[in-house]
Amino acid sequence: MKAFRRYAKKERAAQLVDIPIPFPKDNEVLLKVSYCGICGSDLHAWLNHKGYESVLPVVTFGHELSGTVVESGKAVKDWKEGDKAVMIALQTHHDENDRYCKLDLPQLSPRRRVQGLHLDGGMAEYVCVESEFLLPVPAGLTLELAALTEPLSVAEHCIENRTSINANNSVIVSGPGIIGQLCAISARSRGADVLISGTEKDKASRLSAAEKIGFKTIVVGSNNPPLEKQIKSFYPEGADVFIEASGSSLALAESWRSVRPNGTVTAIALYSRNVDIDITQFLRKQIDLRTSYASSKKDYFRAFKLLKSGEIDLEILTQKYLLSGVEEAFRNSEELKVTKAILDCA
Ligand SMILES: [Zn+2]
Repeated sequence: MKAFRRYAKKERAAQLVDIPIPFPKDNEVLLKVSYCGICGSDLHAWLNHKGYESVLPVVTFGHELSGTVVESGKAVKDWKEGDKAVMIALQTHHDENDRYCKLDLPQLSPRRRVQGLHLDGGMAEYVCVESEFLLPVPAGLTLELAALTEPLSVAEHCIENRTSINANNSVIVSGPGIIGQLCAISARSRGADVLISGTEKDKASRLSAAEKIGFKTIVVGSNNPPLEKQIKSFYPEGADVFIEASGSSLALAESWRSVRPNGTVTAIALYSRNVDIDITQFLRKQIDLRTSYASSKKDYFRAFKLLKSGEIDLEILTQKYLLSGVEEAFRNSEELKVTKAILDCA
């Protein structure tokens, strides 16, 4: 089978290769992969960025996948041939004694792993997944749309559990990448008024996508007035909630300027540079500064619901590539030419 595999701990050291179809262990299911999204973390791993040292030197990438069961291991009871599934990306084997399992936040357990970074993932024709980490695709959802379940679950975790967004709230999402856009959709589905900001570089593709799906947008960065000035015409007192999804250290450091007193800032991006924060400014406005990381099963179920509601426009938010075009898909993602690249692996 074809698989997009990293072959060394070096920048861009990955290629499409032919490897044998894996054989499922007793507790595993063999999936024929339908679609697999390219995530920001795949790009970081591919570019061998700081913070991704734990990624195996030799591994098949891909954790945002949907597929169909073709074979099950001996101990697998609840999956049969033809079942459609999505994979839980951050995997922690359930343990009653694990504080994070008890809190229903297994993604925070030190025992967690990411399939597609720490074991072979789904940028391939087939993948073996432990049955514990598979969820059935609900009726009425296509496998293509289902490939967005993982990133949408990450947005749902952020909006549901790490902000207190409700109807009538004003929200600014900084960064029109896929996680930013999905957070915006997730906030809007709760009745909030949402603005998305991006830079000149985002204008051609990502900000225009945001506008097409009905969001007001703001362009920031050189030659443009600062965000806190521009936001005044929309939210005179500042936003209730600021979601930082761009990964820009400066955007996070300056976020307090665009938020009203007693508001919330939630960082959901990964920052390749340290953030120099004047915490006194946050303190004087009593801004609640939070982070949000990954998602758990409940968030996947919320994501299924939102996907089924028809709020996610695949045509606008995603661009499809064949698995044979995976290198182009990575390059175009790196150059911000697409909001979300999805590989057709069938
Ligand atoms: Zn992801």
